Amino acid sequence: MNAYKHILVAIDFAEDGRLILDRAIQLASANDAKLTLLHVVEYSEFAYTGDLIPPEEIHVDRELATQAEQRLEWLCEEVGLVEAARIVELGAPKREIVRVAEEHNVDLIVVGSHGRHGLQLLLGSTANGVLHLAQCDVLAVRVSS
Ligand code: AMP
Repeated sequence: MNAYKHILVAIDFAEDGRLILDRAIQLASANDAKLTLLHVVEYSEFAYTGDLIPPEEIHVDRELATQAEQRLEWLCEEVGLVEAARIVELGAPKREIVRVAEEHNVDLIVVGSHGRHGLQLLLGSTANGVLHLAQCDVLAVRVSS
């Protein structure tokens, strides 16, 4: 089996996020792969009835993106990741995760089996969507909550 070369781990800052990141770090180390962390700030377009997004809402999204960049940086510091790339995107998580994976030639996506949206499902909605849409391998790390 070929080793993975580039692993993308999707971080939603839910409680079990650390478990998912730890698994991705193990895999990156075992495969000598590049590791990229991605957080998607959920786009607020669904809150609107019109086509145009009011400027103040764009401002809120940008603010959330800046906070997410800071949180990813702290997370990396906490686990001693100095070389991992960090990406923050705006949009629908499952679509952005798959898009970023394709754009960066990722060959393994690591997600949690559940996150903030998926507690009542066997696989959360993001995990499920990524599994169906991705062209590369997907690992859903089992989280208990
Ligand atoms: P869910 O299916 O939405 O319950 O979440 C399952 C997993 O998808 C989480 O453990 C994360 O790995 C990933 N995920 C969900 N939402 C996001 C997000 N906004 N940004 C990055 N990853 C996410």
